[in-house]
Amino acid sequence: MRIDLHNHTKRCNHAEGTIDEYIQRAIELGIDIYGFSEHAPMDFDETYRLSFKEMDAYRADILNAKERYKKEIQILLGYEVDYLPGHMDERVLNAKVDYLIGSVHFIDKWSFDNPEFIGGWKSKNIDEIWQAYFEATTDMAKSGKFDIVGHLDLIKVFKYLPKQDVRLLAQKALHAIKKSNMVLELNASGLRKPITEIYPSKALLEMAYELEIPITFGSDAHAVEQVGFHYERVITLAKEVGYTKAVTFQDRDRQLITF
Ligand SMILES: [Zn+2]
Ligand SMILES: [Zn+2]
Repeated sequence: MRIDLHNHTKRCNHAEGTIDEYIQRAIELGIDIYGFSEHAPMDFDETYRLSFKEMDAYRADILNAKERYKKEIQILLGYEVDYLPGHMDERVLNAKVDYLIGSVHFIDKWSFDNPEFIGGWKSKNIDEIWQAYFEATTDMAKSGKFDIVGHLDLIKVFKYLPKQDVRLLAQKALHAIKKSNMVLELNASGLRKPITEIYPSKALLEMAYELEIPITFGSDAHAVEQVGFHYERVITLAKEVGYTKAVTFQDRDRQLITF
């Protein structure tokens, strides 16, 4: 079985392509379970995400597609939600969806992965940035609000790497993820970024495996041609570490499938 739970559409204003185009590509690639996880609305950085008033339309469009394509592919409805204290909204957290991905895209409102704000990396200590990132990830896990950890080590995106061992920096976050019963996604989008690595790195995935943290897969597509991006490499990494099963969701309940 092939799963891909992290995908965007043009509704977030920084991706291209319609729901139908993404699904048709997923079917072509032989994906069995395909989930949309649009950037959820938030009263911060509103331009690059769905608006609150679009939530119903987004839901209706996905459910409609789910029905239309049900003979060919299973379509799931989700959100990618920013973990940003003070800006998480009950309308999103309580939305009737198959799953919620929790993602840290901001450190104290600094969009550290956005090339527009790359200057921020020059004004701070890199190890401290990494520490703050994993503290936010730990808090995200402890909040218990999400099903999936989005791109666990997104902080490596621009290849500003810490002096300290990343495994030590991420240790607390991984324990919190285990304790909150979250699923880790293998996200291929890092292969399209300066770091040219999957999120998470092999070293962190090995720690997750030791802790028996389950995994799932997401291409984090922001364009139709990114659906299934480097799937072979992602699967190979998972298998090398020892994983044989991945998680899929329905109404926020999980099922294990063999990939
Ligand atoms: Zn995005
Ligand atoms: Zn993200």
